[in-house]
Amino acid sequence: MDLCNLSVIREVMAEAGITFRKEFGQNFLINRIIPEDIADSCADDENSMILEIGPGIGCLTKELALRYKRVVAVEIDKGLIPVLAKTLAEFDNVTVINGDIMETDIQALVDEYSEGMSVSVCANLPYYITTPILMRLLESGVKFSSITVMVQNEVAARLVAPAGKSDYGAITAVLGYYGTARRLFKVTAGSFVPAPKVDSAVVRIDLYPTPIYHPKDEAFFRDLIKAAFEMRRKTLTNAINAKFPHIEKGRIAEALKSLGLDESIRGERLTTEDFVNLSNLLAK
Ligand code: SAM
Repeated sequence: MDLCNLSVIREVMAEAGITFRKEFGQNFLINRIIPEDIADSCADDENSMILEIGPGIGCLTKELALRYKRVVAVEIDKGLIPVLAKTLAEFDNVTVINGDIMETDIQALVDEYSEGMSVSVCANLPYYITTPILMRLLESGVKFSSITVMVQNEVAARLVAPAGKSDYGAITAVLGYYGTARRLFKVTAGSFVPAPKVDSAVVRIDLYPTPIYHPKDEAFFRDLIKAAFEMRRKTLTNAINAKFPHIEKGRIAEALKSLGLDESIRGERLTTEDFVNLSNLLAK
């Protein structure tokens, strides 16, 4: 069964009595090459467990199941569960779980299914909740090898932007703490049904097996980044002082100077490493 064929998608959905649910960000792939390419590039070891978020009717899930030892797919839409039971019936290495990834205990899931295998995430993410899902995955503490996601083009640009570029944002700086991101390829809006308004791109994040940065206070490091980008127009000194009034401007300027940075610099010019060093100097 070609799960990227528009007639097949319509048929299986009609049989189940369901329609596309916009509130769940349901834009299904209708170009068979794309899930094949995503599945090819989302993990290096075929002996991996892949955690998929939002299998839809299973077009990417199927390609993952053909290439990797185990696939665990979490789908929020109850109506798709009986559909997936049919479309993926031939695979005994796939487990579909009905649930919201934002509520799922991801570590428990990995402990239950990975059996010591390396674990990667692969997903055509629902656009309404891309960044929260990414943050949840990164902050989950689960030792993923990689996270490969299809996201809107502009989000992809943000994820891979170097410091100082206009696309560089809080998520880029935070992501740099966990690993490195690269854009794999673009996917045009016409590759989905219903077609979204904008094109997409696939991004792969390779996570550091052990942390390379060591903030003394991880929460403060994150808050510092948030402050820097919430008040993008302000100098970093003013933005930090506005958010943390107990940290005097003079102290911030001094810390920046000791890192070889100008006291009038804006937050968007700082790399992840700069933010770590600055947070270590300013932490209590
Ligand atoms: N993987 C399919 C494909 O590529 O055609 C569908 C991708 S569609 C963009 C996003 C999928 O994520 C939908 O199946 C949607 O129901 C599901 N989804 C949305 N929010 C979710 C959440 N919070 N947790 C788990 N799945 C979710």
